[in-house]
Amino acid sequence: MSPPELPPSLRDVPPAELFPDVFARDPWHRGWTRGGHTRALELLAELDPLTYGRDRSYLDGHVSRLSAFLRHGVLTLAEVRDAALAHAPPTAPSRVWKYVNELSWRDFFVRVYAEVGDLVWKDFQPYKTGIPSDDYAREFPADIDQGTTGANCVDSWSRELRETGYLHNHVRMWFAAYIVHHRRVWWQGGASWFITHLLDGDPAANNLNWQWVASTWRSYPYIWNRGTLVKYAGERYCSACPLRDGGCPFDGTYAELSARLFPGKHPAPGETGWLPPDTLKAVPWEPPPTPEPAPDAVVWVHGDRLSPGNEALRASPGRPAVFVWDGELLKMWEVSAKRQTFIHECVQELPVHVLRGDVAEEVARFARHHGARTVATTPSPSPRFRRIVEALEAQGLTVQLWPEPVFAASLTPLDLTVHAKYWGQVSASAFGKPPAPPKEKPKVTVRAGGTPEKKARGGRRKKVDAEPLLPLDGEI
Ligand SMILES: Cc1cc2nc3c(=O)[nH]c(=O)nc-3n(C[C@H](O)[C@H](O)[C@H](O)COP(=O)(O)OP(=O)(O)OC[C@H]3O[C@@H](n4cnc5c(N)ncnc54)[C@H](O)[C@@H]3O)c2cc1C
Repeated sequence: MSPPELPPSLRDVPPAELFPDVFARDPWHRGWTRGGHTRALELLAELDPLTYGRDRSYLDGHVSRLSAFLRHGVLTLAEVRDAALAHAPPTAPSRVWKYVNELSWRDFFVRVYAEVGDLVWKDFQPYKTGIPSDDYAREFPADIDQGTTGANCVDSWSRELRETGYLHNHVRMWFAAYIVHHRRVWWQGGASWFITHLLDGDPAANNLNWQWVASTWRSYPYIWNRGTLVKYAGERYCSACPLRDGGCPFDGTYAELSARLFPGKHPAPGETGWLPPDTLKAVPWEPPPTPEPAPDAVVWVHGDRLSPGNEALRASPGRPAVFVWDGELLKMWEVSAKRQTFIHECVQELPVHVLRGDVAEEVARFARHHGARTVATTPSPSPRFRRIVEALEAQGLTVQLWPEPVFAASLTPLDLTVHAKYWGQVSASAFGKPPAPPKEKPKVTVRAGGTPEKKARGGRRKKVDAEPLLPLDGEI
């Protein structure tokens, strides 16, 4: 039997021609950055992890803006961590502790996603707001989508998200809290909207952060007030806001806002979550095995590792490689034009034949065309990836998974119930030391009533009305 024909490569066909309906609908065809490894290296060269530790929560702070490149595997977490460590004196790696710790949140969420799969779309736990899950609106409000709510901060964030595909972490938290708690929209609606527009959108980091804000993976809801906004953003929003002198929904102390927004601090009666107990308590950790190169392999490059450093590409030099636009996924997530442009620019730097359609069918056809029985690729936490691999295996192909360098290793199965426990197990390794046994967490005193306290000068105890900054260790 002669090998199947292969359509010509779409590598140089702009996504506007491949997905004209998306480009017609979405006026922003390019996000805040171009894609590709060359651009990622430029940003990596600007990394300032020393200053980051001091000012990352401020909108003008020294954040790295590497998220889209990390999400699409243009850079690995290990690579970025190494670049961060190079900024610290060898004797004081803790100078970049905060940045490395922040990278670890991505590793943590990706591991959780790999474990629970599509459950990331369900409430892990009930809302701790006294409001039943069904009372959160399923329809996403048009005024948020279009940036016409009348609150200048919210409308600016809506515009920024749709135009650039990027929001600062603090803005994401504020915006998510507004959508879920002020507008009572279910977090899944906000998460889907973010995934559509963010260049870095993925169900791991995105949904699990939304669950944190919503309180479906945290013991209380995240909220913020105008004082916090002004502290970290300055007057840039409030000065031009029509609600500046009356009607601002964020005016008030945390206690006042909480009383206004939530009928209770506990789940509404009868509410339960979807995450089975013990699911994340002991997730096996083993160094991912590296396969033996297969001389006849073809390489499948997918959207989680769009880098010339792709391990499957490097293991099969000169072998034919394919990337497939997954039309169904792009449609399901309503992936914006600017994100498609970003992906296209990443793909253009790679030695791949580009196809589109059903990924398993196209990769299998590509393999048969080249007479290959082995498909070399890189792992992905996504359940969709797993289903594609199964479909390829069902067609008699062997799929090899070439792992990227690990960000952090562990001696024991990982406790992924909260980030702090995971971090206790892996932090030594994340800083290049041998993995250490888990540390006991120091006890935190919380007074009756749950009000956090800190000591004022002179030993007096003072109540704080301060916003907890995400990520808060031990909270999720
Ligand atoms: C509601 C909400 C939705 C989010 N959705 C996404 C998403 O879809 N994709 C995504 O990559 N991040 C998401 N984040 C996390 C975080 O906001 C972004 O990773 C970060 O703002 C990206 O900017 P940066 O690269 O400058 O980050 P930096 O502050 O420079 O951090 C460096 C890297 O660490 C990782 N990181 C930092 N904070 C987090 C975090 N809280 N969770 C996971 N990883 C983190 C990212 O890979 C980031 O690029 C979300 C946060 C919230 C609150």
